[in-house]
Amino acid sequence: MTEIIESENCFCQLASGSKGNALYVKGGETAVLFDCGLSGRELERRMAERGLDPTTLSAVVISHEHTDHVGGAGVVCRRFGIPLFITDATRTGSTKKLGKTKSMDIQTMECGRRFSVGDLEIHPFSISHDAADASGFRVTTPGGSVLGIATDLGVAGHLVKEHLSGCDALVLESNHDPVRLYANPHYPWPLKQRVRSRVGHLSNEEAATLLDALDRHRLSHLVLAHLSEENNTPELALEAAYRVLNGSNTSITVAMQHRPIPVLSF
Ligand SMILES: [Zn+2]
Ligand SMILES: [Zn+2]
Repeated sequence: MTEIIESENCFCQLASGSKGNALYVKGGETAVLFDCGLSGRELERRMAERGLDPTTLSAVVISHEHTDHVGGAGVVCRRFGIPLFITDATRTGSTKKLGKTKSMDIQTMECGRRFSVGDLEIHPFSISHDAADASGFRVTTPGGSVLGIATDLGVAGHLVKEHLSGCDALVLESNHDPVRLYANPHYPWPLKQRVRSRVGHLSNEEAATLLDALDRHRLSHLVLAHLSEENNTPELALEAAYRVLNGSNTSITVAMQHRPIPVLSF
């Protein structure tokens, strides 16, 4: 097991992809989970694998109502007695998936309005996805380190670029390779169109173009996230990002569906 130094700012993508997402972020004395599409048991298992203690979590923050992001959130909040931060529209879309919300502390957040959970400042911002009120996040630690998070977005506009610029670490969607997507015989045509639409998912090339447009002078870690298991490979995603980051000091990690990445400091 990895030993985590208590005061270190760090993060760990515990799971990433259409079968479940969860991102652990710690800054100062506060640890928060961004999305929880894993079962309570699976979340605990993966955190233990990385030496992370789920009883130290202060909150769960939700990006949007799709099951791969919210499916385990209710169970985890109830089990550890921690609040859930969610927008009103996302909450409405998540009611069934959250389970018994009466016994939960639900805190309303709004895209564009920053809030604090313990030592972490969290700034949710709107992203373009086929969900009621999907958000990306800019997370700032007490020492001023910044983590940008944006998965599940069909297109990256000005707002996204602004919020992901100047980060020390980034978790960025690199969902698919369009050639593989279109050639996939298991995907019906409407689903292919949905993935490629403005409210779908970023391709490797689109992620690289976004990355290229960002202020990256502080960027030490890039995590490529939400890869399609069928329509992408880690090699293709890495190749596209590497074309932009070649010659820089930024490390690139591909987040996986079935196991957590190493814990990264930022
Ligand atoms: Zn998703
Ligand atoms: Zn989604």
